[in-house]
Amino acid sequence: MTLNNVFTIIFVAVTLLSCKKKDTRTPPSTSIETPIQVNEFAIVIHGGAGSQTRKNITPELDSLIRSKLTEAITVGHRILKNGGSSLDAVEKTIHVLENSPLFNAGKGAVYTNQETNEMDASIMNGANLDAGAVAGITTIKNPISAARKVMENSPHVLLSGKGANQFAEEQGLEIVDPSYFATEKNLRYLRKIKTLENKKLTALLTKKYPDYKFGTVGCVAIDKNGNITAGTSTGGMTNKKWNRIGDSPIIGAGTYADNNTCGVSSTGHGEYFIRAAVAHDISAQIEYKKVSLKEAAENVVQQKLVALKGDGGIIAIDKYGNIQMEFNTPGMYRASINQKGEIYTGIYKDE
Ligand code: ASP
Repeated sequence: MTLNNVFTIIFVAVTLLSCKKKDTRTPPSTSIETPIQVNEFAIVIHGGAGSQTRKNITPELDSLIRSKLTEAITVGHRILKNGGSSLDAVEKTIHVLENSPLFNAGKGAVYTNQETNEMDASIMNGANLDAGAVAGITTIKNPISAARKVMENSPHVLLSGKGANQFAEEQGLEIVDPSYFATEKNLRYLRKIKTLENKKLTALLTKKYPDYKFGTVGCVAIDKNGNITAGTSTGGMTNKKWNRIGDSPIIGAGTYADNNTCGVSSTGHGEYFIRAAVAHDISAQIEYKKVSLKEAAENVVQQKLVALKGDGGIIAIDKYGNIQMEFNTPGMYRASINQKGEIYTGIYKDE
């Protein structure tokens, strides 16, 4: 045996010994987060990003919002804790928010310019990249369930308008008269905005009602099987015209989920979220740039969106169960629970 052969044998042996079994959970190389499963299951929600500050939110509204967020997230957490799926957790959690007039989704959907309510919603299953969405619907009590039916019981991803209403009815979902979505508060809000707009008092409009565009609810969850689901539901933007549709029902903008990376639900000025493909960009940065969820979310929300002048935020969970809530507005209604049952609720930037 030559000396060369001896070296080759030693080299091969050392290489083989140092090769470990491929770890599918290998953390992102620049991750600043725990590279192991931090939460076997977890859930996070938002109730819209906007101009919430302690000056413009009364203590009564503050506590109403926090208790509704807590009620909603507790529903999803219980499902996950009992071994249920993230799909069920997201859908049932969003129902609580959609059934409350406090948020811009379902019952609390804001008004269009024509004084109607048109809602959008989407859901995505990170296990197989299945997705479903509805846009411009007017009679479905819980839009998130319609999105799930589209995903599970139709060959399509996105249905709109009358056809989507009809599909939901055929699927046995609860149908309501459009008057169900009428709320005095939202109508007053629309009329004030239209008056200012008609008088071309745009500066005053933006100053007095800086977040008339915002609202929306969303939920992301990871279950005990590592399946990630993301869902988003909205009434869109107050005073929207011409059947405008925002980012919420757009897979990749308002919602995205992939078990290999993360799940994301967005809230903010939809036109910018569509242009920046926000939810997918965060997932793609984790996949291709190998950065952590935190880094990806900060990059997209605090840099890319800000450069475009796009206001809003996101909630997200990665495959390790890390939770991220990132926004570039003064506030965002939000809450999370980890597997230990520790609840966090937040409204303002500094909490
Ligand atoms: N993103 C929603 C839209 O543009 C609005 C919101 O999040 O408040 O329709």
